[in-house]
Parts: sequence; structure tokens; C-alpha cells
Amino acid sequence: MPIACAPRISSQLTSEFAFAALHHAGYDAWLDHIWHAAACTRPIRLRGDIRHIDLATGELLRTIPTIGMPDGVIYKPCGNRRVTTCPGCAETYRRDAYQLIRAGLVGGKGITPEVATHPTVFVTFTAPSFGPVHSRAVRQHTCTDKAHCTCRPEPCHARRDPGRCPHGRHDTCFTRHRRGDPELGQPLCPDCYDYPAHVVWNNQAGELWRRTKQAIERRLGQLARRRGVPPIRVPCGNGKFRLVDPVRVAHGKAAEYQARGALHFHALLRLDGYDPADPDRLLPPPPGMTVVDLDDAIRWVARAIAYRTPPHPAQPGGWIITWGTEIDIRAITLHSTGTVTDLAVASYLAKYSTKGTEPAGHASARITAETIDLYANPGGTHPERLIDACWTLGQHPDYTGLCRWAHMLGFGGHFLTKARRYSIRFRDLREARISYRRSQDTGPEHGPIRTVDHVDEETVLVVGTFTYAGTGWKTSGDALLANTAADQARKRREAACEELADQYNRTATGRQAA
Ligand SMILES: [Zn+2]
Ligand SMILES: [Zn+2]
Ligand SMILES: [Zn+2]
Ligand SMILES: [Zn+2]
Repeated sequence: MPIACAPRISSQLTSEFAFAALHHAGYDAWLDHIWHAAACTRPIRLRGDIRHIDLATGELLRTIPTIGMPDGVIYKPCGNRRVTTCPGCAETYRRDAYQLIRAGLVGGKGITPEVATHPTVFVTFTAPSFGPVHSRAVRQHTCTDKAHCTCRPEPCHARRDPGRCPHGRHDTCFTRHRRGDPELGQPLCPDCYDYPAHVVWNNQAGELWRRTKQAIERRLGQLARRRGVPPIRVPCGNGKFRLVDPVRVAHGKAAEYQARGALHFHALLRLDGYDPADPDRLLPPPPGMTVVDLDDAIRWVARAIAYRTPPHPAQPGGWIITWGTEIDIRAITLHSTGTVTDLAVASYLAKYSTKGTEPAGHASARITAETIDLYANPGGTHPERLIDACWTLGQHPDYTGLCRWAHMLGFGGHFLTKARRYSIRFRDLREARISYRRSQDTGPEHGPIRTVDHVDEETVLVVGTFTYAGTGWKTSGDALLANTAADQARKRREAACEELADQYNRTATGRQAA
């Protein structure tokens, strides 16, 4: 029997024939069945029944057992956001992150386009120094793409009076490190480096951020009062009132590991108005408050904010948590010639949201008492010493988070976070995707089985009762076929996008010339 090529794939896969012998459902039906998980490296296999229930009457419309489907299971993408774990799912996550960040900048997907007029800045908050590390500093970039920078850097740590540390190591390095040099981020002397302060800082970074944002809002509120914008009186029972400033800062932010293993936060901060009577409404900031005010408030807070952690036997006075001295703030310009545009920022943040600790030279799952010796060594590499510091300090009851997040070098937060008011939610995008997939479904047997999620607007509830049947594709041949098919489809999508962009560029240039 000749095997028809799957409609979504243009080129013939030679292994289709071998495949047909193994899967009696045939290549087309199989590919169609697994399609939504095709890009995933290790999908979850689920066995059971899918029930369709009429939402209005509660009546069971039909039951579809997975036993009758190709492979006897349904495949669910693993959903991992890390590129090194599952490139396919990370790509989906990255696209969602992009949409979400972008909607908060220019509106769309249910967010008012008015947000594009709110003052917005893109800020990079860094960690303080925990000891000198090999670094690559370029005084003046002449390159256009910093990710592929070839500019001549300054010498790493040049000093006129070179000396040695108490451990006998040089305190200078005259190398002009090239990009990607494995020495970058490594301490000049690991024995001088303050590993405890470093991992405690990573662990506190989320709390530092929370306090920072609060302080920025408070400062902008004070400014608004000085400019004559009155605070709003909000009753709080027993006849009393509290005063609320009509200013809020909404954020979308991504965490990134520097080579030294300390976190960076890249954040979009948008100035909004606020009405306590209708807290979910997106309002413009009070009149007269500008991007300069926002910039000033951030700079002031980033310098001023400091707090002390609980005491620890290793540091009886606790550690003082502050930001590093390097803070980069840029105003966002929409669709113009400024240094940062909305699209560039959205894709930047989205890209970082799919990375983990890999840039710092470590990648592992959660570390346990059984596996700690594989990763921690107080006299070992930089990442090994960081993990050792997490594990050692984390034995104290006030610092157990350090053990739990040792594999993240102490940081237990999310890589992409946003204020509730900033934009839409990841969930909204997932639901939109499910609805879209359903609308694409045509075949009666294959249509509804592609999802088990319930989408609010629909009238039929799809409920799956599944048991876990395994992780990953059944054979490496299946994995190859599925991933290749998804990859080809992605390349075609990208080619179509580029074609569109080209068209846009041509017409845009044409307009400019005219
Ligand atoms: Zn996956
Ligand atoms: Zn160096
Ligand atoms: Zn450069
Ligand atoms: Zn030393």
C-alpha cells in the first residue's frame, strides 16, 4: 500500500516505510495524533479515557478510550522551559513569553493599546561584587550586535602596583579576554572569593526585587503628592481611612545568570495610574509624571535600598543585601530609531526566560543528600564551590532554601515574572492555543483527543481520566520522526515570517524613499 505523505510535511522521510511496518495505524494517522507534542524531546504518555460532557446538562456525550488510538496513548508535551532540557517546549514557552511581554508594552490580546503611551523603561539590575572575577569590559562598542561582539576589550584587571593575595595568587590579569573565554566569571582567587555572600544574595534576590519595586512606587507616590496629585482615601472599616497614591509600577522581568553565577534581572517597568475602587483597570499615570520621574525613582531606590538577613552562625550579624553599583536604565521607544525598541526588548526577555544556570557552567536537576557529593566541592571549580556554600549554609533552619535551590546556585524564584497587572497570563495564551487547535481539528476520531484541557467559552467539557503510561517516545525512531517533522514545519513557518518581514522592509523603504 502506498503511503501518502503527511499534509504538513513536504519532503519524504525515508524512514516512513520502516515506520509503517511498526505502526499499524500508518504514518499519517500517527503523525496527526502526536502532532501537538511532535517538537517535544520527552513527552508524557497517558493512557485512559476522554469524556465529553455537555456543560449545560451535565450529560455524558461520549467516551473515547486511548486504547483505540495510535500507540494506545495520548502524548502531552513535557512543557519544560529550559532550552537544554527540551528545545521544542522551550520554544513554545519563549513565544508565549514574547507575546506576553509585548502585550504589556503595546497592548493587544485584550490589553488596551493605551499602555504604549505610559512611560516605560528597561532596567538591568546587577548583583554586587563578591570578589574580583575575570571579565571582559569594552569601553566603547563599535559592533552592532553585542551578542557577537568582536570589539577590543580592556585588560581584565590591570594595576600599576601588582601584588598577591594572602593565598599567593596574583591580584592582576592583563589578558584581554575574548568572548566565550572559559576563564570569564572565574574568581582571580577562589579562596578569597566570598561564596557565602554570593549564594545568600542569589537566594535573597527575589525579596530584594520585591522591596525595590515597593520602594519605587512609594517614591513615585511621594513625588505625585508634591506635584499636587492628592492621594485617594480608602475606607478600611471602623470609620477610618488610609491614603493610597494613584500610582503603580507594573513589571515584566527575566532573571539571567552571569558567567560568575550571580543573577541579573532585566526588567520592564511601566508607570500606571491606580484606582483603588477598580484595582484591575489599566489607567494612565497621573498627568505630568514622565519617564524622567520613573528613571529618577529607580536610580534612587537601586542605590538606597539595603536590608539585613537573619543571623547565621557563619555570619552572626546577617548579610547585608543590596544591588550592585552597575545599573542600566533605558527608556523604551516604540517603533522608532531609539536605542531600545519594544520588539527588541520583548524578544530579549523572552530569550532569557528559557535559560537556566547553564551560562554559569552548571546544569542539574534538584540536588539531594545522595547526589550532593557529585556537585559540591569546597576546594573545586567555581560552580562546585557555589553549590557547596549553598549546601553548607543551608543546614541552618533559617536558610534551608539554599539546600532546596542549590542546583540553581541559591535562587529559588521564577525566571520570568510579571506583575498581575502588567499583561495577560501564560494561561490565556495556552487556552488560545487549545481553541485554535480545536478549530483546526476536522476528523471525528482525531479532533477532540488533542487536548484534555477545559476552555471556558466552550459548551462541551473535555475531561480525561488518565494514568501515566511513561515518559518519552516509544522508540528512538519515533522520536526522530516526530522531532524532524516538527522541525521542518517550524523552518517553513520561519521562512514564511522572513518573507513577510522582507515584504514589509521593501514597502517601508519604498515609503521612505517616496
Ligand atoms: Zn518537551
Ligand atoms: Zn582575566
Ligand atoms: Zn562590541
Ligand atoms: Zn586569595
